[in-house]
Amino acid sequence: MSTTDNRAPSGKKSRLPYEEALTKLNDYIESHNMRHTPEREMVLNEICDMQQPFTAEQLTERCKPLRLTQATVYNSLKLFIVARILHSFVRETGRSATQYELAVATRSTVMMVCTRCGRTVELRDKTAIDHIVAMRKYSNFVPENYSMRIYGHCKLCRRILARGGR
Ligand SMILES: [Zn+2]
Repeated sequence: MSTTDNRAPSGKKSRLPYEEALTKLNDYIESHNMRHTPEREMVLNEICDMQQPFTAEQLTERCKPLRLTQATVYNSLKLFIVARILHSFVRETGRSATQYELAVATRSTVMMVCTRCGRTVELRDKTAIDHIVAMRKYSNFVPENYSMRIYGHCKLCRRILARGGR
């Protein structure tokens, strides 16, 4: 694995995660004798466009212009979880909503997550972490990429907390 920054150039998103996720979805659907539905693929496309963890509510909001119902979105989420396209996690503190993110990682990411407001920002310079992952010796394992979350407080929340807010 190269240690160079493999972010897609801005304005030109890589469709790689979508293609990989769609392949996984189709494999799952076919091996379970289910029907293909365009709605599920639309939901998956929206998820891949977000490129960061999201809540079910955020996804539903995003899918509204596509005329997808909340039931469609929630059922798709459930299916994507069992098909191992997504994995879910719960923020440790704050408004504890379940967050979802793509389980198919095609590039390494480091996310900074504010445990108070949930704001998630991608760390741009992860050179030092790339280096650690690449240099470490693994037994019977070849690393390809990684996904990491750093929990803390964003600038705004730090200011609120400093003023005695909660
Ligand atoms: Zn915050």
